[in-house]
Amino acid sequence: MTNNLNGAAAHIWKPYASAKNPPSTFNVSRSSGMTVVLDDGVEALDGISSWWCASHGHAPKTVVDAIRQQALKLPHVMFAGLSHEPAEALTQTLLKVLPPGLDKIFYADSGSVAVECALKMAIQYQRAVGRPERNRIAALKGGYHGDTIGAMSVSDPDGMHAMFQGLLPRQYFAPQPQCRFGQPWDENDFDAMNALLDERGSELAAVIVEPIFQGANAMYFYHPEYLRRLREECNKRGILLIFDEIATGFGRTGELWAQNYAGAKPDIMCIGKALTAGTITLAAAVASSTVADAILAFMHGPTFMANPLACAAAKAAVELLDCYDWRGNVKRIESELKAGLEPFRAIPNVRDVRVLGAVGVLEVKQLPCPDFVMKTVRETGVWLRPYGKFVYTMPPFIASTDDVRRIVAAMGVLADV
Ligand code: PMP
Repeated sequence: MTNNLNGAAAHIWKPYASAKNPPSTFNVSRSSGMTVVLDDGVEALDGISSWWCASHGHAPKTVVDAIRQQALKLPHVMFAGLSHEPAEALTQTLLKVLPPGLDKIFYADSGSVAVECALKMAIQYQRAVGRPERNRIAALKGGYHGDTIGAMSVSDPDGMHAMFQGLLPRQYFAPQPQCRFGQPWDENDFDAMNALLDERGSELAAVIVEPIFQGANAMYFYHPEYLRRLREECNKRGILLIFDEIATGFGRTGELWAQNYAGAKPDIMCIGKALTAGTITLAAAVASSTVADAILAFMHGPTFMANPLACAAAKAAVELLDCYDWRGNVKRIESELKAGLEPFRAIPNVRDVRVLGAVGVLEVKQLPCPDFVMKTVRETGVWLRPYGKFVYTMPPFIASTDDVRRIVAAMGVLADV
């Protein structure tokens, strides 16, 4: 499985893994559309869009062409004191799809860095308007915002980063919302957040949440009313609201932005992942003019900021949203996932089944062991990577009915341990 060219695999440290005992991995030689080609030529459907970023399938032609053309002209140039057409063209394209009023775009290298930027913007904003004591952030239990220090500090303190608690800035957490998406709203569900805002409001620069869908730490969908209430209460108290749409953005939950379910808008929004259709790293923190204009000089400037290759890719990727009926596809995928996954409630190892948009989750009692997962991937020809308590799918929006059927079947195998 693991390609061990000249023993190199023993020297490559993999994500969330031991360097001493590297996990076995498939080596991928090519990818296209729904498919990744594994080392021995086996073609596997990518059931998780390569960590949820290849939303339109792998290697979309227009995006790859855009990168190729851009590489011939200007692969990179620093972004301080200089600018370039790919950044300006992407900005024009993004302004057409971003929620109105969010129109100051700070490009960052990855989702985690975009979150760092959003937190720093919030702190700088509060200083700029004469409230320097507001230098803490509130967030939700069950949330996930990335793996860098600031992003970990606002992710679930009992989640995957629990071991770093001593290092992290001290932030404030409200309980995970209990009212689920699609259930009747219960006003009591907002009480704990309201109490936190009452108690700590004078220390808070911002509240950060993943709107509607808590991804990596919880795989959980909550009620849109929670976001409307949060918007109202932040407004009353001069607390900024940050929506992390890195996972939810660009259609994943069925709306272009998950916040659209609530009709609530943030002051700062983070985007990433599907921004370049899974081809090259790029993210952004996008602020309202009110926030941006108050800040004299934002103190952040990554070396590869607004990399022209990434900007060209992102422009082509965003334009793909107009090239096919992604919304219709996501709706169909949602109903196929519901129909396919609901019966798995009967599997004794399955605790819960959750579906929204192109996200399908089986919460399980016990996770299949890595060897069983690798064997199942090979036998079913479906690439899935269960972790924590979850066997889940986030397929590309181009998944056909038959693709979804195969993904669902593979999830059933992985959950039934
Ligand atoms: N925020 C959310 C909601 C995410 O899902 C992720 C990645 N899973 C991140 C931030 C971090 O993004 P990246 O991995 O690009 O740093």
